[in-house]
Amino acid sequence: MADVSELLRVGSGVDLGAIDPAGTPGLPDRKEVRRDPKGWARAELVTLGAELARQQEMLFANAKCNPADQRRVLLVLQAMDCGGKDGTVKKVAGTMNPEGLRITAFGPPTAEERQHDFLWRIRRALPLPGYLGIFNRSHYEDVLVVRVRELAPPRVWKPRYEKINNFERELTDSGFSLVKVMLHISYDEQRRRLLERLRDPTKYWKYNPDDVDNRAYWPAYQQAYQDAISRCGTDHAPWHVVPADRKWYRDWAVANLILDALKRLRLSYPPAGFDPQAETKRLEREETGRVSKVNGR
Ligand code: ADP
Repeated sequence: MADVSELLRVGSGVDLGAIDPAGTPGLPDRKEVRRDPKGWARAELVTLGAELARQQEMLFANAKCNPADQRRVLLVLQAMDCGGKDGTVKKVAGTMNPEGLRITAFGPPTAEERQHDFLWRIRRALPLPGYLGIFNRSHYEDVLVVRVRELAPPRVWKPRYEKINNFERELTDSGFSLVKVMLHISYDEQRRRLLERLRDPTKYWKYNPDDVDNRAYWPAYQQAYQDAISRCGTDHAPWHVVPADRKWYRDWAVANLILDALKRLRLSYPPAGFDPQAETKRLEREETGRVSKVNGR
């Protein structure tokens, strides 16, 4: 099967307009997949999820047994409104043990956060060694919404690309594996999803009237994404664009991207820091002792 990470990786000069949001790059070209791609991808996510859970547990176990092991993984999820960030967290992160996850959603900065540099709140949310961190929106908002909605002048947001690159270099130098993902949906799909939210009372809570106003800024956002990906898609922290109009493809692709990052760590379960045979004997002796006492011997 084609390497999904390789296929979805983008860098400088990326042209979002040339990437089909309904595409399915890397999906195996086999008869049973062609017959029912959605059914296949949903079933495959169960298998991938089990392996993700195992890999994440090994990551956690290694950090627990060896305080010098600084390895951790950070998934950075960015998307236009209705792009499917929440669905991805639910479906993909939902396959793993919640105890090993650190999930943070970033909204508009609070009064306290605004007192600090834009990376301040990001640093506070970083996962500890052994954890899989997930950022639902991230430091990239500071060169996306801030730029498009003119929340700060160019002299403030322009130097941020370099600051982000330095920050991410610092992370990868200290044990982080970064998986940066833009969920790429089409303008029409966003409209469909907004309408779906309006048709279903159980989805009203997801609807935000501002999202409709934001649609007027679609081209400006695409440009801002393109620049952020171009400038911050580095070798140590590459960007991936995941076509996200089809939710089943999106989940399958993101699961593959995280699994790839975990597999690159070549994890195994840590060896015992004790003698398992001696410990077993100790427990067996304890059991014999207890039985003797009960029998009054
Ligand atoms: P979501 O849309 O991700 O489901 P919310 O409805 O809470 O969640 O929206 C989060 C909002 O916070 C978005 O409009 C986003 O643009 C905004 N936001 C996130 N980070 C920043 C930032 N650094 N500066 C300004 N706005 C931000």
